[in-house]
Amino acid sequence: METIVGTSNRVLAVDLTTQEFEVIEVPDIDRKMYIGGKGLGLKLIYDRMDLEADPLGPDNMIAFMPGVLMGTGAPCSGRFAAVTKSPQTGVMASSSCGGPFGMALKTAGWDGLLVKGASENPVYLVVDRDGVTFRDAGDLWGKDTRQAQEQLAKEGEALVIGPAGENLVRFANIASGHRFLGRGGMGAVLGAKKLKAIVAAGKAYKIVPKDPESFDRIKKIATDYINRNPWTSQAQRKYGTLSIVNITRTSGILPVRNFQDGTSDNAYKITGEVISEKYDTRHHTCKPCTILCGKKGKFDGEEMPVPEYETVGLLGSNLDIYDPVAIARWNRLCGDMGMDTISAGGTLGWVMEATEKGLVKTNLKFGSPDGVEEALLDIAHCRGFGADMAMGSKGLSEKYGGTEFAMHVKGMELSAYDPRGSFGQGLSYAVANRGGCHLSATMMVMENFMCFLAPHTTMSKARWTAFFENMWCCVNSLHTCLFTSFAYTTELTIPRFSSWISTLIGMQFMPGILMAAVDFSVIYRKMWQAVTGISISKSEFMRAGERIHVLERYMNTRMGVTAGKDTLPARLLTESRRCDKKNRTVPLDKMIAKYYRIRGFTPDGRPKPSLLKKLGIAA
Ligand code: SF4
Repeated sequence: METIVGTSNRVLAVDLTTQEFEVIEVPDIDRKMYIGGKGLGLKLIYDRMDLEADPLGPDNMIAFMPGVLMGTGAPCSGRFAAVTKSPQTGVMASSSCGGPFGMALKTAGWDGLLVKGASENPVYLVVDRDGVTFRDAGDLWGKDTRQAQEQLAKEGEALVIGPAGENLVRFANIASGHRFLGRGGMGAVLGAKKLKAIVAAGKAYKIVPKDPESFDRIKKIATDYINRNPWTSQAQRKYGTLSIVNITRTSGILPVRNFQDGTSDNAYKITGEVISEKYDTRHHTCKPCTILCGKKGKFDGEEMPVPEYETVGLLGSNLDIYDPVAIARWNRLCGDMGMDTISAGGTLGWVMEATEKGLVKTNLKFGSPDGVEEALLDIAHCRGFGADMAMGSKGLSEKYGGTEFAMHVKGMELSAYDPRGSFGQGLSYAVANRGGCHLSATMMVMENFMCFLAPHTTMSKARWTAFFENMWCCVNSLHTCLFTSFAYTTELTIPRFSSWISTLIGMQFMPGILMAAVDFSVIYRKMWQAVTGISISKSEFMRAGERIHVLERYMNTRMGVTAGKDTLPARLLTESRRCDKKNRTVPLDKMIAKYYRIRGFTPDGRPKPSLLKKLGIAA
């Protein structure tokens, strides 16, 4: 087997219309400025795509980007990114997946795959070290994601869409193994291109770091951090992301009845602790992984993936349903159909409330599982009212009324954290580049999980939101699992040996000092350096994260995003909840102007020309 030292710096660009391909060589300057993964994917698209392209038209491009760490054996590095213009939001979206396709693409010798054009008939691609072959997908079209992957298994590791993608459901996803490029409707982008699947025939190359000694040293430190950190080595490893339910239900940020409340007496039934005991759960993870949060279990005697926290929140408590077996079945059904469970649950939450209010006529009711499975199938196949539900809560509310309880930002449904109990999370939802995304700055982690920031104050929230947005852009470009950050940031010497109260005081009152004193990115930065052999300082690394975030924002502003779109559903700004005796709502206005100032945006939310110049982004 041949060896790639560091990265191949080769991206395969495929045109489905002409059935041709070319190789793009990535220059060193772009590697340093955009890190890899998501960052490089954005840059490739920015340089080549007409930003006015219809997300479901042939001119839209989609990039699949294994990260710099993929194939090196770094902890939790089996993840890859995808970047495209989203049919759900009409602006840029990125997503991260831990399925086996990424490793196969990377070990076929490619640092990325860029797809444009559209085929007249269903096709699939087979990518190997020499390029790509176009194959007829007539007999795959209509198959669900598990069936399609089974059929393609002999040819390599497949990335596939299900019926939802074929039918252009606005929140269709893409599957690789039992993992998904979940958010932003990327499945519909492939469906519109009549691209059923991409198979990567990997194992052609071995990936080795440029500086193996430094890499082994930093890998050992990183692994030790993960193995001693209580979040990564205990909570996540034992109960997976469902370990979060006990935090959100007790801090009043678990969505209940379409975000009408923030906790429920029944929520204990969907906690990781209860589910792991009752349903014989075992590890079922991305590969490689050191944290091991992914789980499968036996539900009514049948082995199925254990739903993630966000799925349990949106298809469970948000519908006032607390039956783990039903939620596990719907989770698997969404996976088979190729649909995002967060947006599916958010959409059904709107439908249940709109039904109660008489805006639409359905048999769906809060607290009742009746009709949910049929509704999910109707959405995936765009049958009857399912064709309307396939537009998501934004499209539904614009057609039938009820925009004030359509729980989305920029068209993407919110995930399972109610920001009335986490003000910084409210800001980060409102300004997140891809819409109602909890992963953009993960402020709920600081406010509610670790309690390093007071959740019901606006103080320092703009500063930390911008900081974490930049840092997570680096992590998603490296690319490694965001959950490593629990360990890689809090196990560093200063945070580890500081008391909780001193960390809270530092974060709340002296964010600038803390950001300067602690190199939170050091593990990520040193891994990148050891793999690529390119030296990068703390400020250059964090500047790269800022560049990636601002480039995405700039592309979005050219696609129509301005300050008015950086907002939250009216419910979160005006309605209080039974679970909160103080009747709080999100004071978004107090945070957003400050956020724009810190970012170097104009008051209407556009990156200033001076900022673009500073970051080297050509306008
Ligand atoms: S921690 Fe979980 S999400 Fe992250 S790489 Fe491991 S299994 Fe995947």
